[in-house]
Amino acid sequence: MLAFSNEELCSPLDSVEIDEEARRKSFCKDPYKVICQDNPYLSNDFEMKHENKIEQMSYDYFYYVNKELLQRHGIDGLHEGNIHRIKELLKGCFPTRAEEEGICEKSIFQNSFTDDLYSFQEVQKEEFTKTIKKRIKEEYLYYYSQTMDYYGDKINSSFDSIKDLFHDAIKEEIQNLSLSDSKRSKILKNYKNILNKTEIIFSISDKELKKAANKMEESVLYNVLLDDCGEKFHLQNGAALYEREKKYIVICPRNFIELLKSPFESTFEINSSLLHIVAHELAHHVFPKHEKDNFIPREKIYKYALCLGGVYPRGESIAKRPHDYMEEAYCDYFANKVIERVISNKNLRTKDKIDLLQLTMRGLCFVGESKKHPRGRFRIKEMLYRHPKVFNSLKCYKENQNKIIESCHLEGRDILNLGF
Ligand SMILES: [Zn+2]
Repeated sequence: MLAFSNEELCSPLDSVEIDEEARRKSFCKDPYKVICQDNPYLSNDFEMKHENKIEQMSYDYFYYVNKELLQRHGIDGLHEGNIHRIKELLKGCFPTRAEEEGICEKSIFQNSFTDDLYSFQEVQKEEFTKTIKKRIKEEYLYYYSQTMDYYGDKINSSFDSIKDLFHDAIKEEIQNLSLSDSKRSKILKNYKNILNKTEIIFSISDKELKKAANKMEESVLYNVLLDDCGEKFHLQNGAALYEREKKYIVICPRNFIELLKSPFESTFEINSSLLHIVAHELAHHVFPKHEKDNFIPREKIYKYALCLGGVYPRGESIAKRPHDYMEEAYCDYFANKVIERVISNKNLRTKDKIDLLQLTMRGLCFVGESKKHPRGRFRIKEMLYRHPKVFNSLKCYKENQNKIIESCHLEGRDILNLGF
């Protein structure tokens, strides 16, 4: 049973190698296409399945507690498509029918409250349908939080390792900046201190919200999660929050939720998905905003933004208003520095490197330019691609032999593809 013919043993291996080289080449030729067009993690299969499952769980629960009543009215199950049937039943609440039908009695739905519905005006019945929907939404949030709690340890430990990588990346960067030794150690100490005070929040479960320093910060976090992540948690956002006691980064579950149930379910997928967004949000906390002492000097960040606008392909607003884009450019710079630390690991296969980039950058695909953020395409095709160890660990100099590729950093710019 264990014997393979030579042919069987060799050909799959060869094809893997050929495939790896082909993927490497296509990435180096057009990184945006590989990350945003030929990316299996962006396919329809990955879209919202998990959310739909959780939504159904909340309908099922509402159905279960009101089963007897709903079955009497011929509703054998609830889902997005037939929720309107409850509304139709309520429309029929007139005094004569009320008692027979049962649907119009007080507090008829187990987990909702109302007065006699048969005496309600049309508009009030409409209002009651809304309270049912609100109730179902609460169930939804409850199931969502439970799911998040279930994977909480995995996500928290992923956050801790990204925080370590981030620390090492800033340490390396600060050492390379032209600053005095005492200035360097002051900046590093400050950054370390900030990182230690930073928590990740990705769910509104009680367990997660306990990370907040106090009740007030807890309620801020709760509201930010509900506002920024969308009512079904369907938005792939992240945010940095500067509260008094602690600092937080909010990472919407949509950044990784679909990976939790996939056959690819593994630490690699979750870590990779969180890499760019977590590092980017962490960097917001160490950006010299109001306080400027003990931070990387703003002049260096300004020079970096100026370089991005001037050296990388023009036509982006960063070329006209580098000052406005400083903070976001700085955050991407450190996110890319964290990515390059992982990607330059010699034990990683080409396939893993490209999978990692597809997972971690997919949230930026199709994102347009804003007043502060360059376009997603620019952030992938230029800023990520030209990061030295990303470019070199995928040997992209091979595909760029006839042109000079320059790379911007906080101290100026370098040529990437010479000297190999
Ligand atoms: Zn940002």
